[in-house]
Amino acid sequence: MLSIKHLNAQIVEGDQILKQMSLELQPGEVHAIMGPNGSGKSTLSSVLMGHPGYEVTSGQVIYQNQDLLQMSVDERALAGVFLAFQYPMSIPGVSVLNFLQTVVNVQRKKKNESLLDAYEIIQKAELACARVGLDKSFLSKSLNEGFSGGEKKRVEVIQMLMLNPKLIIMDETDSGLDIDSIKKVSEAVSFMRDGSRSFLIVTHYKRILDTIKPDKVHVFHDGHIIQTGDMALADRLEQEGYDGIVNQSSKEHQ
Ligand code: ADP
Ligand code: MG
Repeated sequence: MLSIKHLNAQIVEGDQILKQMSLELQPGEVHAIMGPNGSGKSTLSSVLMGHPGYEVTSGQVIYQNQDLLQMSVDERALAGVFLAFQYPMSIPGVSVLNFLQTVVNVQRKKKNESLLDAYEIIQKAELACARVGLDKSFLSKSLNEGFSGGEKKRVEVIQMLMLNPKLIIMDETDSGLDIDSIKKVSEAVSFMRDGSRSFLIVTHYKRILDTIKPDKVHVFHDGHIIQTGDMALADRLEQEGYDGIVNQSSKEHQ
């Protein structure tokens, strides 16, 4: 599904953030990425989505047999790559429902599928709201304007549910959510999980992973993965914090 090899990337006219980053994600797999603030997890998410503020200097990313780095942001989205942002943007004057209708129909149009009318969109959107525990009255509000952190994150999950992507990157979607909402988000992931869709879940907390049960857990530090394990690694991180593992890894590399 996704093969990242020796990826180096920097902020445009700035520091190198991703350093020899490699990762293999098979179809249907769910991988968790945990790591300290500032280690480059959001940079990785942005680079995979094609954010223009980051520049890949070397390395390779293959997504479903295509060179992802050669694709525009639109092409990536159309090919099924979806990023739930750590800090979702607000768009004053555009309702959540309008926004959902636009993003869903832009993709359907490009795929030569029939467009969904307002009624069909409302039905799907209300179902998605129920799945994430967001009152349907949010659909008529301006996108993310004045929304709490947790409400914005749930709107991201609503998009994910409605766009039906193949590779889902969730950047700290569970941060800022209360316990009940975390449960809803992990249930939404479990609901979407099938034999072919893959997930990269960036998180600091084991709680969301307890329900999702990822296939692999990676520790990310200084722009690359320093350790890979299973849920036991997430347990250990919760007990010991990142320091122990980071120190152990740097000793091993001396
Ligand atoms: P994480 O998501 O793991 O907390 P980030 O990828 O957000 O880490 O950031 C990695 C490092 O790159 C941090 O030091 C951050 O300040 C810096 N950084 C990321 N994006 C930018 C940017 N657009 N401009 C300046 N610095 C940035
Ligand atoms: Mg981040």
